[in-house]
Amino acid sequence: MPVILLVEDEAPIRDMVRFALSRSGMEMLDAEDVSHAERILDSRRPDLILLDWMLPEENGIELLRRLRKHPDRKDIPVIMLTAMADEDQKIRGLEVGADDYITKPFSPPELVARIKAVLRRAVGADSSGCISIGSLSLNTVTHEVRCRDNPVELGPTEYRLLEFLLSHPNRVYSRTQLLDYVWADNSAPVERTVDVSIRRLRKALEPMGCDSLIKTVRGAGYSLSRKNHGA
Ligand code: CA
Repeated sequence: MPVILLVEDEAPIRDMVRFALSRSGMEMLDAEDVSHAERILDSRRPDLILLDWMLPEENGIELLRRLRKHPDRKDIPVIMLTAMADEDQKIRGLEVGADDYITKPFSPPELVARIKAVLRRAVGADSSGCISIGSLSLNTVTHEVRCRDNPVELGPTEYRLLEFLLSHPNRVYSRTQLLDYVWADNSAPVERTVDVSIRRLRKALEPMGCDSLIKTVRGAGYSLSRKNHGA
């Protein structure tokens, strides 16, 4: 379940976001100011931060600046919540390293769609675009997949599925969640679609012995994990 940290001083907006996120299967942590947010970040690592620009004491942009310089927090995706039609805020936010921004007032479906879009591209890739776990690596720039140094040929859907699982390792995703994150732009795919793509993906990885990285979690879904893997 993705964990979203909302930093917002207006209680009605916190309530609205909490409702929208819980309906979409996301957990929300919330802080009413920057110092409270930093206390939460000391103990939890959210998958994404929704950061209001105008906050009491320090503004959201100051937290964003510190996040982007922090070794363990610089990769956490941030969506800024900006005041209506303030172009200057949007540009400054993106310059400092926000992944996206949402203009207030926003609707819950718009918010959820933006969060999902940012989570989909939030990959823990290094500067060359490479993500790897064990002996399996994927390059998000060239779309090359290698397993024990052998190239792996994947179709576009299996590639996106692998990129998503590699970017969020050791977490279990249900078929419904995978449909949401990987197939989001498709028209009404069914849960069986996920099983078919998982089977294709494992088959492509099997000759190199990397198929066991993809685990089936009975009654829950799938995860990619290095555990119990000899790589
Ligand atoms: Ca505010």
